[in-house]
Amino acid sequence: MKVIIVGAGFGGLAVANTLKNSNLDVLLIDKNNYHLFQPLLYQVAVSALSPGDIAYPVRGIFKNTKNIRVLMEKVVNVDLRSRRVSVSGSETFDYDYLVLAPGAETSYFGNVEWKDYAIALKSLPDALTIREKILSTFEEAEKLAYKNLDISKHLTFIIVGGGPTGVELSGAIAELIYKTILPDFPLLRHKKINVILIDAGNRLLSSYPEELSEYTYKSLTSLGVKIYLNTRVTSIEKNVIRTTQGTFSAFNIFWAAGNIASPLLKSLPVKLDRQGRVVVNPDLSIPGFPDAFVIGDSASFTDKNGETLPAIAPVAMQQGKHVGKIILEGLPFGLRPDFVYRDKGTMATIGKARAVAYLKGQSFKGWFAWLLWSLVHILFLIGFRNKIRVMLEWIWYYITNKSGARLIVNAFRKDNSKNS
Ligand SMILES: Cc1cc2nc3c(=O)[nH]c(=O)nc-3n(C[C@H](O)[C@H](O)[C@H](O)COP(=O)(O)OP(=O)(O)OC[C@H]3O[C@@H](n4cnc5c(N)ncnc54)[C@H](O)[C@@H]3O)c2cc1C
Repeated sequence: MKVIIVGAGFGGLAVANTLKNSNLDVLLIDKNNYHLFQPLLYQVAVSALSPGDIAYPVRGIFKNTKNIRVLMEKVVNVDLRSRRVSVSGSETFDYDYLVLAPGAETSYFGNVEWKDYAIALKSLPDALTIREKILSTFEEAEKLAYKNLDISKHLTFIIVGGGPTGVELSGAIAELIYKTILPDFPLLRHKKINVILIDAGNRLLSSYPEELSEYTYKSLTSLGVKIYLNTRVTSIEKNVIRTTQGTFSAFNIFWAAGNIASPLLKSLPVKLDRQGRVVVNPDLSIPGFPDAFVIGDSASFTDKNGETLPAIAPVAMQQGKHVGKIILEGLPFGLRPDFVYRDKGTMATIGKARAVAYLKGQSFKGWFAWLLWSLVHILFLIGFRNKIRVMLEWIWYYITNKSGARLIVNAFRKDNSKNS
């Protein structure tokens, strides 16, 4: 029996791990040669971690597993009727079972032109672009300050989206600037810097209890982040963002506001929801195609309470395990158990020793939540070396406020230091 898994993210890896060392012939296809731990991407963006700390080669994960073959290819088409996937090199691969786990991309809510001016945080290249942009801007600002020229656009940093990614990114940018960068730039002044977080809703972290949203608001404010709630972005152009609360000029505009499922799903002859996800059966199979499944950020799954599951890593991992078991046991459609999500809680970090967590109906905040957040992230990182490295980096940062990866490597390759 041939099984094809598309995507070596959280969902795809969970399927592969369930099927490893079985008598199934598994082909795991990913367009990258690494598994990316997206929850720590923002730490690469703010120079706290290096790319290799949060990414792990997929081949390395399965190097001793005889029944799993890894292919670095982009899947461009899926023919559910012929049970065949096509990759960008135009080769095709046949399957008996298919699991689609290609994740999601950034959505600019139909304003595709904004993507050129507001950098998203979804991939390693995104994180490195943000990192270089922030560091290059400070180098440029110091030079202009030396000549007494206007640097207000250089010193304004705008983050759009008050969900976990926007909160984590804005808190980390504020800490990076105030605690780590400014001491190295004697001509730049604390009070001239603006880190601005914009959200259309009336509170941050809207999926968390209100008391945690309030704590997050206060914590970010104390870190120096200016928060604009009930503020809708109306347009973004080069270095300018217009909102319902006014216009801001900034060289650094970052987008953490929306998700849309992988465009690969558009090739399927099935119903997609508003976020482009496949509306799956209770066993996670595709309606009409019982041997093809969609999991993780690409799947729209409604539980027994009528709630659509959120796009988070635990959902993808549990769904991967569920589908893996169905395939392993060869359960026919109709005899398969429904997928049931076990919610173990959600967490978001705000800054050093500050986080929020909502676990089993209980709210936690501050240092304890941050410790929990740190332990959980270390636990789920792949690779012993990565776990140790990340832990040491965090301890070092905790003690010194210094992050090690503040390197600009592309400045003279593509004139990255010039903003205008
Ligand atoms: C910045 C950020 C922070 C986050 N923080 C958290 C957090 O704190 N906690 C949490 O639970 N969740 C968090 N998430 C969400 C979490 O990362 C996702 O829910 C999870 O990664 C979804 O898993 P997945 O397997 O569906 O997709 P992914 O993990 O995204 O994996 C998809 C894989 O498919 C591959 N792929 C895509 N298209 C193709 C193609 N056409 N051909 C071949 N391969 C393809 C990709 O390269 C990727 O490896 C965060 C996400 C981001 C972006």
